This record gives sequence, C-alpha cells and structure tokens, in this order.
Amino acid sequence: MADFKKVEPDLSFIRGVMDSGGETVNRCYQCATCSVVCPLSNPDRPFPRKEMLWAQWGLASKVSGDVDVWLCHQCGDCTAYCPRGARPGDVLAGIRNNAIKYYASPKGLADIMSRPTGVVAIIIFFILVVLGEIFLLGHPFIPKGEVDYEKVLTVLPIDAVFMPLAIFVVIVALKGVFEFWHDISAGAKLPQSYTGTYPRPKLGDLICDYGWKSIIEILKHDRFKKCGQTAERAKGHLWLLWSFIILFFVTNYVFIGADIFGMHVPLSMFHPVKILANIGAVMLIAGVLMVKAMRDQKTKEGVLSSATPDWILIYLILAVGVTGLGAEILRLLNIAVIAYPVYYLHLGCVAALFLAVPYTKFGHLVYRTTAYIFQRWSDEIRAGRNGFAKKMTLDH
Ligand code: SF4
Ligand code: SF4
Repeated sequence: MADFKKVEPDLSFIRGVMDSGGETVNRCYQCATCSVVCPLSNPDRPFPRKEMLWAQWGLASKVSGDVDVWLCHQCGDCTAYCPRGARPGDVLAGIRNNAIKYYASPKGLADIMSRPTGVVAIIIFFILVVLGEIFLLGHPFIPKGEVDYEKVLTVLPIDAVFMPLAIFVVIVALKGVFEFWHDISAGAKLPQSYTGTYPRPKLGDLICDYGWKSIIEILKHDRFKKCGQTAERAKGHLWLLWSFIILFFVTNYVFIGADIFGMHVPLSMFHPVKILANIGAVMLIAGVLMVKAMRDQKTKEGVLSSATPDWILIYLILAVGVTGLGAEILRLLNIAVIAYPVYYLHLGCVAALFLAVPYTKFGHLVYRTTAYIFQRWSDEIRAGRNGFAKKMTLDH
C-alpha cells in the first residue's frame, strides 16, 4: 500500500503571500516556462516553478528554507512569459516580504512597520524621544540666533538614542540571519552533525572568501544587470547602495571624531568629509527617485507589481534624504522656525530607517547578502570541495 503523507497547508502563509503582492499564485499550472526564461536561475536548482508550487500548497517551512527565493531580483522576465498570468516574479517578492516578517522578532514590530501609518507612528515616537531629551537638557526647541543644531542636541544625546537602537537592530538582524542560515541549510539538505547542527564556514573563510566575493558581486550588481525586462533598475539601486556606503562612512567618521576625539561639529562646508556627505545625500535622493521612477514605469507596463512594502521603503529613504538635505540648506539659510522642525523630522526618519533593516523590505540587505554567501559556499560543498562529502540530494 502506498505511503501517503498528509500535507498541512499553512493558510496564513498563503494569505500573507497573497497580501504582499503574490495574489496571482494560484493561477500557476506548473508549465515551468518561468524557470526556463529566468536569467538568474541555476540549471541545477531551477526557480521559480518549484516555489510557485510550494507557495500554492502553503508549505511555509519549505519556502522559508529555500535560498533561491533570495536570488531573484524581481526582474519580471518570468512574469512576461508566464502563459497563465501567475506573475511568479511578484509571488517571489511576496514570499520575501513574508520571510522578513517570519524572521523578525518581536513580530508585532514587523506588523507595525508593514503599514504606512505604523511607520509614521514610529517616526513620531522617535521625534518625541528627541524632544524629550531636549526638554530634559533644558534647551528651547527653537533657540534664538543663528541656526546651530548643537544648541539643542550635541552628539552625545543623539548617540544616546541611536546607539541602543543600532545595537537592538544588529541583534534582531543577526538572530534572523542565524535562523535563516539554519533553515536554508536544512532546505539544501546539508550534511548534519550527530547533534543535529549544520556546518558553517570558518570565520576566516566566511570573510575572506565567500563573504568578500559576494560583497564585490553585490557592489557591482552583476546579477541585477543580467535581468532582461528591468535591467535599468540596477542603476538606481547602485546609486542607492553607494550612497548608503558613503553615508555610513561619514556618520562613523563624525561619531568617532566627535565622541572620542572631541572634533567640532558641524564640519565646515569645505571639509572633505562634509563634501563627501553632501555627495552621498544627493546620490541617495537621486538613487531613490530613479528606483521610484523605474518602479512606476514597470508597474504601469505590467512587468512587475508593487506592494505596500515596496512603497514604504522608497518613501522612507526619500524622507531621510530630503529632510537631511533640507535641514542643512535651512541651517545655511538661517530659517530657524523651519530648520529645527525639519531637523527633528530627519532624526525621526533616520531612526525609523534603522529599524526598517530587520522589519521591512530593507531586510533584503541582510538576507540577500546571506543568500549569496550561502549559495557560493554550498555550491562548493555540492562539488565535494571544502572537506565535505558530496552527499546532498536536491529537491526540485
Ligand atoms: S508561474 Fe507561470 S510560467 Fe511558471 S510554472 Fe506557473 S504557469 Fe508556468
Ligand atoms: S523575477 Fe526575474 S529573477 Fe525573479 S524568478 Fe522571475 S525571471 Fe527570475
């Protein structure tokens, strides 16, 4: 007698995918055209056909342990060729949005950050925290005289908000990455130890080999450029990525300089780091506007669909860039009555963007990077290199 295994679909998972842009998932009839046309699919582990099936069946654990979901860049090539209008590219985007929520903790914060009103509430919360600090320090919210943000908050009180926030974000993101690594190791059927743990690369190899090569690939957007229908989107993403790198460097320069070495801030407009900061801010705004314009155009053309998480991230990044540059211009113009409120709004937006890393689509930054590293590493295991026997069975 045949041994039947009952499949228990996770209905909330299916609903979650459908609500995050994958409402067409049930139209798929498994013709596999999408896997054939996908420019990023691996011939040994083709996607996205299998993910469509798993999502239809509500196999949440199967999908969350699938690294291929993260190798898709929603280029829309598969969507253009799907004979059933199942829009596999959008379904995979919906699966990723759900996976970010799945690995986030506490989940309630992910729910809040998944709604535009929730993000606005988070921004207001951080503005109130900043105003509370200024109040406790005994400073007026809009001081008289020349506009100088140091009159309301020096670097230390700002650090008092952002340092704990950054530590919290790193802990939540790392927890998510470890769980994700475990799930994709199980999904790839990596050899388990007798204690049930999965192998991990040595730290040195992780950084110098797999991590470094993956980061170079991401910095150049090599895979994104292979996309057919939406390859132009890579340009805006690249501008954004490099602006984040520049602003990360600048922020840390000011943080270390002011906190540890007592450097005077704000830096002069002609200071090389200040010039770099302004270049980064302009690149951020230009990059996000390019991404938005391209997404608008491709959504109109029907190549891809855009869900709330896409717009939340775009508008949040835009808000950070515009308020940051606005606060600087208004300071130079010395319009105190607008400059200070814009500055407080900027701090609130930056804090919300920090929090967006483990709770919103911004999580692509960590999970896609992890997926690239994992793919590079597990491919070596599959090939029998790296000290591991080639004993994996593939499940397509
Ligand atoms: S998503 Fe479309 S192209 Fe892909 S297997 Fe299903 S029906 Fe075929
Ligand atoms: S959207 Fe593009 S990268 Fe993603 S599965 Fe479809 S063809 Fe492949």
